Parts: sequence; structure tokens; C-alpha cells
Amino acid sequence: ASIHMTSLLSGLNPEQLEAVTWPHHSALVLAGAGSGKTRVLTTRIAHLLQTGQAHPQNILAVTFTNKAAREMITRIAAMLPINIRGMWIGTFHGLCNRMLRMHAEDAGLPQAFQILDMADQLAVIRRMLKERSLDEKSFPPRQVQWFINSAKEEGLRASRVETQDSYRRKLAECYQIYEGICTREGIVDFAELLLRSYELLSRNELLRDHYRARFNHILVDEFQDTNRLQYKWLKLLAGADSPQRAAIFAVGDDDQSIYAFRGAHVGNMKDLERDFAISKVIKLEQNYRSHGNILDAANILISHNNGRLGKNLWTAEGHGEPVRVYHAITDIEEAAFIVDEIKALQADGLALSNIALLYRSNAQSRILEHSLFNASIAYRVYGGMRFFDRQEIKYALAYLRMIAFPDDDHALLRIINFPARGIGARTLEQLQEEAGAAGSSLWQAALKRCDGAGDTAARRANASGKSVAGFVHLIQTMQQACAGLSLPEIVHHVGEMSGLMAHYQAEREGAERLENLKELINAATSFVHESEDDSLLAFLSHASLEGGEHQAGSYQDAVQLMTVHAAKGLEFHSVFISGLEEGLFPHENSRHEANGLEEERRLMYVAMTRAQRRLYLSHAQSRMLHGQTRVNVPSRFVEEIPGDLLKRLRPDSRADIGSQPFFMSPADDARPVRRAAGSTASNASSRSVAAMAAHAPGLRIGQQVSHTKFGPGTIIDYEGSGADMRVQVCFSHAGTKWLSLAYAKLTPL
Ligand code: ATP
Ligand code: MG
Repeated sequence: ASIHMTSLLSGLNPEQLEAVTWPHHSALVLAGAGSGKTRVLTTRIAHLLQTGQAHPQNILAVTFTNKAAREMITRIAAMLPINIRGMWIGTFHGLCNRMLRMHAEDAGLPQAFQILDMADQLAVIRRMLKERSLDEKSFPPRQVQWFINSAKEEGLRASRVETQDSYRRKLAECYQIYEGICTREGIVDFAELLLRSYELLSRNELLRDHYRARFNHILVDEFQDTNRLQYKWLKLLAGADSPQRAAIFAVGDDDQSIYAFRGAHVGNMKDLERDFAISKVIKLEQNYRSHGNILDAANILISHNNGRLGKNLWTAEGHGEPVRVYHAITDIEEAAFIVDEIKALQADGLALSNIALLYRSNAQSRILEHSLFNASIAYRVYGGMRFFDRQEIKYALAYLRMIAFPDDDHALLRIINFPARGIGARTLEQLQEEAGAAGSSLWQAALKRCDGAGDTAARRANASGKSVAGFVHLIQTMQQACAGLSLPEIVHHVGEMSGLMAHYQAEREGAERLENLKELINAATSFVHESEDDSLLAFLSHASLEGGEHQAGSYQDAVQLMTVHAAKGLEFHSVFISGLEEGLFPHENSRHEANGLEEERRLMYVAMTRAQRRLYLSHAQSRMLHGQTRVNVPSRFVEEIPGDLLKRLRPDSRADIGSQPFFMSPADDARPVRRAAGSTASNASSRSVAAMAAHAPGLRIGQQVSHTKFGPGTIIDYEGSGADMRVQVCFSHAGTKWLSLAYAKLTPL
């Protein structure tokens, strides 16, 4: 055993060693990224077991994702040759679920209770509002959902919610009715898992004592992202004010708190110190993950935030390579650059799984996926779903299939009642019977119902018959409307006519789904430009091909794609952070208020500190997103990093406009500029801004201008010279327009 012990502890630095061997008291480890917090936590578990201070069943460990939990179990198993099955390791939701399953009856739940995800929960709320004839205008379902979940996260049942005004009284009433439905149907939403488990422990003394006696070591990773109810749950389970108090071992980093928008509460750190009488906060200051330049860049970036708890991070490694910054003209070119670099890294022998592509929003992944796919580079998308697998995209694709091939039963079943049009399970059963009897598709059966005579006329008269007729009519109208249109136009039309756009527009949190639907139009546009066969059917098979290829190969060595949120806690040899543009990262919604901006900066800090050896930051001047081309300014986060840590692979032409060619000719730059046909970027690759400036002093590409009628905008292209010169302006509200400089009154801003 002593040999094991030394190997377990050897290699730890003095602070890590102190944390791992900390006696049976609560402790808080507050330390920056890559300083070994997670490693300390797992090593401590192994050490406790090995020295006999704890048995596996005495240990409960909470991590943030299922992936992290699995990794933790694997690591401990690798360190110790003993059976560790009695340990509880998982996420808050996972652990609460486990507890509730074991004590369902005591918790007042049926043994086979069903868990509702956020979408299911919303559907239940919708149904409830409808049944109570509460109209969705006064009671937007999303808002009701938010009200209920926030109350639960405060630990409040419907009967205890404060109701100062009549509106809140109504909301509380909704909450009450919703509670009734959940109880009756035996369903449990995410917030309920935690609250129910909390109530179980607080009411049932026997169980509480049992678990307190059992779990005398509670370890929490990523503590900075716990919310209030999670903290209360921990406190109760650990018996903060009981004689048999468990030792809580929490590790966290205030600079990596990125879930404030979901109620995470950094103040929990202070509360923990107080509630568990923590005498010393252990700090780890040596970073083992990243080379010096990467670490310096991250440290300087985060120093722009106020009110930090304050930490120093240093590394014994050398400076390493500078942080690479790439300024792309278009998003397509940015993706092409990333693909080229990945190929070069791969040629140097780096495994693809050692490379991560990070982005701020899921909608950004499509273009990266597309470029990787075309280059035959294996990739895997984490966290978010693959673009073509997303629910809203699947619905849209099903409608498109109905246009091309209405006999596709699968497609019909997916959308016959989505968005809801009152076709219920019974009607569907009847349709299926009719189709079965006639040996036809469901579509044929539906058609027959509509144009049949005699006995079917009676059927048509009832409500369900009318709904089916309405559906048939909708698909036929779509088919007619789309005849002769280009593929992107068809996609656009289908989004509108199907009611999908309106459906997600009406949802308070449907914005991302709406963005993805618009992104599907972009996908169609690119497809048309790149494929010989640009028919709808070809596009549909492309979507399923691209959707299927890389899904099964999870074992395969593949580039890792994920949002920054999903990358928390992970590390990679090489990291690309793409889309570093104002409005994208920092995100549009957060950049105008201080708290939001600081949370975005912490996200950027998380992103940068994932890199061990090489870090790429890239931004594109114009980007097709959410259905339109946007002209972007580089993210302030890139500007906040000192120039001596950076290597600019291609200078941002806007920084020194007027003296430098804007669109470089291939001779100026090793990388030819690639553009999507159909994007609004210039088609003049060798003209220069200098030339434009000579013709129109005060104006340049990228210049913000104001027009008396169209308002503010940005110049994105120009043509002609002298009196004939015209500029293309992308207006914030009025779209993109070509204007003659001789006539248009443009004022530089
Ligand atoms: P994050 O804040 O990103 O979650 P972290 O503080 O949890 O980071 P770890 O992931 O535990 O950091 O460690 C970062 C890397 O440094 C890991 O590869 C880990 O194995 C390594 N590491 C940590 N401590 C040591 C050490 N004493 N000697 C060698 N490598 C170490
Ligand atoms: Mg960690």
C-alpha cells in the first residue's frame, strides 16, 4: 500500500498535497484554470480510500456533466485496484434522481416517475393553459415556465410564492395547477428533481440521518456554478449544523463562473466558508496545462474584470508559441483557414481528438461542420446537437420531404400535428387503419378522405376530418407555391407556410431555434453554389448523409466541436476559438451591461485556458448568420490581449485602413481569399481601400455611415470611380443597398 501511496501523492506540489491530504474537515480550494483542481479532487478520493479514511459508500462527488462524472470514475479506478461501485458520483440532477428512485414512495412519487426535459415541460404548460382557457398572450408559456422553475429554485412551492399583485397571483395559480398535473401524471421536471430531493431530506429525519451517516465526504467540482437550491441541498445533506457533519471539499474558480444566467451564485463560496467554518482557503497557483504565452494572454484578459477574488497563475513551462490571430474576410474563409490548419497539425502527427473548435453559439457550428465534412476530416459535435439533427431542423426537413415525396410516412407522422393543428392520436390511428386496409401511404389515405364522396362526407364534417383536410390542403398549397422556385426560396417558404417560424417566434426561448431555421436557408444557399445537382431531393439526401456520416463514429479519432460552455473543465493540445466578433462573442444580449460583459469575458477566459500548446483566435469581417450577412467588428477580447503575445497571421485591414490593400491579391498573401458565391462580400479581389479613399475621401470599406432615409449602416463594397462610384451599404434596419455616392447623402460616423 505504501508504494501506491507514494505514487499517488508524488508529483503533487505542496499546495496540492495539502489539499489532497487535508484532514476530515471542510475545505475550499479556490484556484485558476489548469491548476489541478479536478486532479486534486480525484486524487483526494483515491487517497481517502487507500488510507482507509473512507469506504466507497462514504463518498459522494458532484460534477457538472455526465462526461466529467464518467471521467472521474475512470481516473479513480485507474489509481486504485479496489471496487469503487458504492460511490455516488454524478451531476446534481443525476444524484437527486438516484435518491428519488430509491425512496420514491417516501418522496410521494410513483416508482416509475417520468422526467420531463425543458421542452416536455413547456408542452405540459401549454396544454394546461389551453385547458384553463388562459390565453397565451397574457400568459406566455415560457414566462410561466420561468416563473415556476425560479420559484422551485428558490425552494418555494406554489402555496408559498409571494403574490403582491393580481398578475403574480394568476401565475402562482398556474404553478398550483401545474403541480396538480405533475402529481396526477407522475412527472418530474429538472428543477423538481432537486426540490423534491431537498424536501425529502428535510422532512424525513430517518433518511436524513441515514445519508448523513453514510456520506461523510462530499466533494464538489466547479463549485462556482452551483445555484442556491443546489447549495441548500448540499448543506442539508452534509448536516452543516449537526454534530455528524460531513466534510465538504469544494473546488472552484470565480473567474470561470459562467452560469449566472441560470441562477449560479458565486456568493455560495462565501456562504460555504461561513456555514462550514472553513478556516483556510487553499489556493493553487501553478498551472500545469498551458504554455506561458497562452496563460499570460488569459490572465491579462481576465484582469479586465472587476471584483475578482484574485489569484495568480504561473507556469514552469516556457513561453511556447504566440497566440495566433486570424482575420478572415468571410465566415467561409475563416472555416477554410481552420480546416487548412487542422490538416497541417494532422500532418505533423497530432491526433484529431487533441484539437477543439470552440464557438459561442450553436448556430455557428454549421459552417464549420460543413467545411470539415467537405475536407473529409472526422469531427464530433458535443453538447449541442449536430445541426441537421436539431428538432426544428428535422421538422423543416420533414415538410420539405412532404413537398418532394408526400408518401413518406415518417415525414408525415412527424409534422401532421406540428405545429399543433388538432389532429389527435385517434385520428392518426384511423388514418393508419385506412392506409393499412388500402395498402397505401398515409398521405394517400388522407387524400382519399378529402376527395372521397358518400360515407366519407360524414367524416369530413366532424372536427378531426376537417383538421386532416386542412393538413392536406396545406401541403398541396406548399407544393404549388414552391414549384419553380430556387432551393433557398423553397426552404424560406416552407419555414413560413408551415407555421414553424411563427411557432418558434411565439416561444420566449425559441430564438435559437428560429436562428437555426434561418441558418437552414444559408445551408441551402451554400448547397446550391457547390453542387451540380441543386434539386430539393439532392439537398435532402445531402442533409441525411451529412447527418449520418459522423454520428456513429464516436470511437473514431475526431476533431472536437463544442460551445465554450460545454468545454468547461476539458483540455486540448490545440484550440480554435472562432467567431470572435462584437455581437457574437461578446454576445449581442450581454455586451451592453457590465455584468453581462464580465460573464462573457469569463467565458472567453474559460475558452482560452482549454489550450495546452497552441491557441488560435479568429474572426470574420462578414458572416452569414440567422439568414443575413452581417458585417462585424473584431471582438474587444482580442484587442485586450497585448500584441507581443500575438502573432497576426493576416493583419486586420481595418486597423490600418487607407494604407493597406483591403482585399489582398493572392500574391500579397499565401492564402487566397475564398468566398461564397452569393455572399455580399466584394467580388473585386485586388482593388484597394487606398483606391477607394482616393476617390471618396473619408469613406472606406468597413466605415460606419448614416443615411438620411435608411439610418446607420456599414460600407461593405464599392464599384466604379469618380462621379460613377457606387458603394454597397449594409444598413442596420434597411438591409443591404447599392448607392451612388454622387446622389446618396452618406455621413461618416
Ligand atoms: P479547470 O479550471 O480548467 O477545470 P483544473 O484546475 O481542474 O482546471 P486539472 O484539469 O485538474 O485543472 O489539471 C490540468 C492539467 O494539469 C491536467 O492535465 C492535470 O493532469 C495536470 N496536472 C495537475 N497537477 C499536476 C502536477 N502536480 N503535475 C503534473 N501535472 C499536473
Ligand atoms: Mg477542473
